[in-house]
Amino acid sequence: TTHINILDVEFIHTTRKQLINQTINHYGQKPIFLVTANPEIVMHAQESQHYNQILKSADYVIADGIGIIIASKILKKPLPERIPGIELMEDYLKYANQEQKSVYLLGAKEHVVEKAATKIKNKYPNLVLAGYHHGYIDINDSKIINQIQEAKPDFVFVALGYPKQEEWIYTHKEKLDKGIVMGVGGSFDIWAG
Ligand code: UDP
Repeated sequence: TTHINILDVEFIHTTRKQLINQTINHYGQKPIFLVTANPEIVMHAQESQHYNQILKSADYVIADGIGIIIASKILKKPLPERIPGIELMEDYLKYANQEQKSVYLLGAKEHVVEKAATKIKNKYPNLVLAGYHHGYIDINDSKIINQIQEAKPDFVFVALGYPKQEEWIYTHKEKLDKGIVMGVGGSFDIWAG
């Protein structure tokens, strides 16, 4: 696997298709932490040493946003394509639907996550909805990770916005035995419509 360093953030050099295959094949031994990083995230990592450390702890940092692709070209280390978080999530949901995998949703307001869960389940009836919870939570509260640990989902989508979603994943992911865990920003609002 090749990485491209942009302002001290290590981006994986991959296409969306390669990434899906790679993460699904490596799946099972331990949780996989994915960050879809846009320019705002890279700038925040410049300002916050702690957030920079969190990004370094991620298994994959993915170029979300044309600004990252442009930066990679200027640095003469071009990344193959932009991978929007929302599209990656959609690919994983399709896979979960095909393989009857389970999905947990954390984030957004109560009525938003509830509606997003209903819409996801309607579109992908064969996936298993392992549970959901709104995102107005204390980062250090262990109640939700305990619920997720018991539900053993294959995918955990965390929509708290950055940097909170990455901080939450970083704080809790060691408690999980498996699963693909990623921050998805405002995606549940889009799902809820
Ligand atoms: N949110 C949350 N908990 C918080 C703050 C925000 O669940 O403490 C949710 C909010 O309801 C929204 C999402 O996080 O659904 C943030 O979306 P935004 O588009 O601002 O995030 P970005 O894509 O910029 O990271």
